[in-house]
Amino acid sequence: MQAVETNTKAAVLEKLNKKPLIISGPCSAETEEQVLETAQRLANTGKVDMLRAGIWKPRTRPGSFEGIGTKGLPWLQQAKKITGLPTTVEVATGKQAQDALHFEIDMLWIGARTTVNPFSVQEVADALRGADVPVFIKNPINPDLELWTGAVERIAKAGIKTIGLIHRGFSAYGNTEYRNAPMWHLAIEMKRRNPELKIINDPSHICGRRDILLEVAQKAIDLDFDGLMIESHIDPDNAWSDAKQQVTPEKLAEMLDAITWRKEDVNSEEVHAALEKLRQQINHLDDEMMQILSQRMSLAEKIGQYKKDNNITILQTSRWNEILERAFKRGDKIGLSNEFITKYFDAIHMESINHQNKIMNS
Ligand code: PEP
Ligand code: MN
Repeated sequence: MQAVETNTKAAVLEKLNKKPLIISGPCSAETEEQVLETAQRLANTGKVDMLRAGIWKPRTRPGSFEGIGTKGLPWLQQAKKITGLPTTVEVATGKQAQDALHFEIDMLWIGARTTVNPFSVQEVADALRGADVPVFIKNPINPDLELWTGAVERIAKAGIKTIGLIHRGFSAYGNTEYRNAPMWHLAIEMKRRNPELKIINDPSHICGRRDILLEVAQKAIDLDFDGLMIESHIDPDNAWSDAKQQVTPEKLAEMLDAITWRKEDVNSEEVHAALEKLRQQINHLDDEMMQILSQRMSLAEKIGQYKKDNNITILQTSRWNEILERAFKRGDKIGLSNEFITKYFDAIHMESINHQNKIMNS
C-alpha cells in the first residue's frame, strides 16, 4: 500500500518536472460522462501530462454554474484510473483542500480570486499543513506581485515542498483584446525573483476566447515558461462555464503541434558566442541610452530653473502633446509602436517633472 502511494507521488513529481508540462481538461467538471470522455480523448492525444477540472467555481456574478462540488471528485479519480494521468483541481477553502486530498487529487491549485485574499490562502495552507501534495498558485487578479509572493510564502510555511506558479493575466477595466491582460513583465519579474519555482502559463484565462490561444501560448513558450494549462471540453460551445475559451482535446493537440518549442539553451559554442556578442552590443546601447537620458534630465532641470525664475507652471499641456505627436510620427517611421512610445514617454515625462520639481522647490 505504502509503496504504491510513494510510487504515485514520485510519478507525479516526475511529470511536474517534465518540460513543457501540459495540463488540460474542462473549466468545470459537469457530468461524469463529460469528465471521463474529455480525459480519455486528452489521453489519446499523448500530449497531456495532467488532467484539470474545476470542481468549485468562483464565479464573478452569482447565478451562473458554481461548480458540481465534492460529488465530482470521484469522477476525477475514475478519470485517473482509466487514463493513468494525474489530476489537479482548484481549491479555495480548507474544506475543499481536504476533500480534494481525500479523493486523491494529485496536485492542487489556488485560483486568482483566492490568491488576492490572505485569509483564504492561510486557511488553505492550514488545511494542507504536513500534506505531501504539490500546490500551484495562480497570480492574483490584480497586478500585485507582493500578494502573489505572500501566497507562495503561506503555502511554503505550511510545509508544502513542491510549489509552482500559474500566470493567468490580470483584470483590467473595460474591454481589451484579452479577458485578462497578460502583463508579461510581471510574470517575468516573478520568475526572476523565484528561479526555483516552476511557472506555467494559462492562455485560456488570459485570452477568454479560443482564436488567440495559440499566439499567447507561443509567447509563453518563447519566454521560457515551464508549461501550459489550457482548458478543453468535448463540446466547447455548450460548456457550462468559459465556453468561448475552451477547445476540443483534438484541437488542443493541433495547437500543441503548431507551437514552436524552443529550448532555453543550446549546446553550441558558436551560438553562445554569437549571442554573447549581441548581448554586449545591447549592454552598450543601454549604457548610451542611460547616458542620453541623464543629459535629457539635465536639460529639464535647466528648463526648470528658467520656469522658476519666470514663475511658469511645470506642466504645459500643449508642449507635452507636441512631444508625443512628434514621437509617434518618428516612431512610426522606425518601427516603434504607439503603445511603446506612450509608455516610454510617460516614464521620461514623469522623471523630468520630478527633476524640475526639485529645482523649482529648492
Ligand atoms: C479556472 O482555472 O477555471 C479559473 C477559475 O481560473 P482563474 O482563477 O485564473 O480565474
Ligand atoms: Mn475557466
